[in-house]
Amino acid sequence: MLVGRREGEVRVEVVVPVANREREAPRVRYEIAPEDLLRIQRESRASRLDIVGFYHSHPDHPARPSETDRRIAAEGLSDGVAHLVVSVDGGGRTSLSAWVFRDGTQAFEEEPLAVDRPREREEDGCRSES
Ligand SMILES: [Zn+2]
Repeated sequence: MLVGRREGEVRVEVVVPVANREREAPRVRYEIAPEDLLRIQRESRASRLDIVGFYHSHPDHPARPSETDRRIAAEGLSDGVAHLVVSVDGGGRTSLSAWVFRDGTQAFEEEPLAVDRPREREEDGCRSES
């Protein structure tokens, strides 16, 4: 999950890995458990941040949202939610693209992506910043 702020643009401050609860086809689909979503939402708000989006990988598939991604996004209130898609091919090469879902068009719009300070938080969210 992507945690950060919306200040005109989406600014991701923390990247939180979440277990994929999809059982039937975890290579091509993902599902986030409601308890994980609620926990990360609570922790984010305690830091005055919000969940601003999601990231997931496409093994051996292009770095663009699939029709399944579009359908899942369209099921919820998803306007303005950021999605990062990482393509990983068999040789380990990666590419990354950023998208924002729009309820009005029921589609993803590609967004410019700038990376300035990557960091990753432990899944339990307990790592101290000090
Ligand atoms: Zn996808």
